[in-house]
Amino acid sequence: MTIRSLLVANRGEIAVRIVKAAKALGIRTVQVHSAADADMLAVRLADEAVDIGPPAAKKSYLNIEAVIAAARAAGVDAVHPGYGFLSENADFADAVEAAGLIFIGPKGDAIRLLGDKVAAREVAARAGVPTVPGSAGRVSSIDEARDGVAQAGFPIMIKAAAGGGGRGIRIAADMADLDRHFPQASSEALAAFGDGGLYLEKVIGKARHVEVQILGDGKNFIHCFERECSLQRRRQKVWEEAPSFLLPADVREKLCASAVALAREVKYSGAGTVEYLYDEDSREFYFIEVNTRIQVEHPVTEMVTGIDLVQEMIRVAGGAPLSVRQEDVALRGHAIECRINAEDPARGFMPAPGTVRRLVVPEGEGIRFDTMLYEGYTIPPFYDSLLGKLVVWAETRDACLDRLRSALRGLVIDGVATTVPLHLALAADDSVRRGDFHTRFLEGWLDEVFARQAQPKAEVA
Ligand code: ADP
Ligand code: ADP
Ligand code: MG
Repeated sequence: MTIRSLLVANRGEIAVRIVKAAKALGIRTVQVHSAADADMLAVRLADEAVDIGPPAAKKSYLNIEAVIAAARAAGVDAVHPGYGFLSENADFADAVEAAGLIFIGPKGDAIRLLGDKVAAREVAARAGVPTVPGSAGRVSSIDEARDGVAQAGFPIMIKAAAGGGGRGIRIAADMADLDRHFPQASSEALAAFGDGGLYLEKVIGKARHVEVQILGDGKNFIHCFERECSLQRRRQKVWEEAPSFLLPADVREKLCASAVALAREVKYSGAGTVEYLYDEDSREFYFIEVNTRIQVEHPVTEMVTGIDLVQEMIRVAGGAPLSVRQEDVALRGHAIECRINAEDPARGFMPAPGTVRRLVVPEGEGIRFDTMLYEGYTIPPFYDSLLGKLVVWAETRDACLDRLRSALRGLVIDGVATTVPLHLALAADDSVRRGDFHTRFLEGWLDEVFARQAQPKAEVA
């Protein structure tokens, strides 16, 4: 069935992105919003808008009944969940189908299976994808945890089976740490994710976070190469690139093939991301998880492959086969994305909502700014602090970094503190230019380099 209308069950910059993709496909758009979001940009751009409840996400964007009722009332064919919120909620995907509508994403069963990070490790192993050494399955007691350590050794990571967004992860350096952290981690996971299940993974030191974009239609499975997302704070990505520039060609080939094998194993449908840690010294990569949705950093892949991932996931959900064949997916040039958050990096990344007094968006070849902002917009304090993503493309990584610096200087967001100064400093950093970084790099750099540079503000640019 062709999708003629869809409901956008999300907010912020990704809602804008989905509305624009749907419009390009000639699809009518209905945008949901909470009471705090009546004036958000996606509401202004969509054909229709529906108020689904109070500001608290639990009562609006996470309220399955309210979202389904809005979809029914608006008479749409399909629902796009974006990222975060209900995007990886298998019950939601099932409820959308049960209401006779199309869920734009994988089947509920695939979300359920891959969303359990322990079950996903088993799927990966079945598909021949190397996983991080660790516990065989869930560890439900401290004794089982001790057994898990025997497999992997210290330091070890205690991870929540249902975790996400960088939360639900702890490191234990020795047995005493493990004894102390284990019960706490379990009760925290239960409170945060409704599932106290834990598993253990060896800590891969100085690793890079490399992830592969996959697309499937249930019969054909392809990859759109990889992204490098090692610049992280609190295990959340801050800056992403495509491709992963230091990856040897033979490793890239194996890595991407392993992601396709995993997609085939579950007959994947839609867009997804297979995440890995890559150890440059041993040239080994290890599966960590699958995200069964569009990802925040998808634009860098779009810039280097020319594929519109959001349009493709809508087409596939409507029953069309993939519009691209593997042999047609080629890499061209280099792309970098900076996440622009309403946070003040000079004040410990304190959230800084406010009103945008003036907005100047840089323009030019290879520059894209995916955003929820407009002049006069007041950022509500209830949600994620992501305001937009500055994405820059050029033929080479060096040229991309140069273009990024000028684009960042040209981006003016007056009225709110943002992470732009952080990105300017990163774009000017020698280690970043050499590509000499890993997943723990940014936190150390923030303490040493950025703290020094942040003092006299003029030095940052
Ligand atoms: P990406 O690689 O797309 O950035 P993230 O893991 O950062 O993926 O998640 C994107 C969004 O979804 C963020 O807003 C994050 O906080 C949220 N998120 C992801 N997983 C979960 C989860 N299990 N529970 C709550 N929020 C989540
Ligand atoms: P989430 O579901 O919250 O995104 P992930 O399992 O994807 O959790 O891990 C998030 C980040 O935590 C990774 O990008 C990496 O920086 C770090 N990490 C996760 N597992 C390991 C590990 N075994 N060793 C070292 N770092 C890890
Ligand atoms: Mg992850």
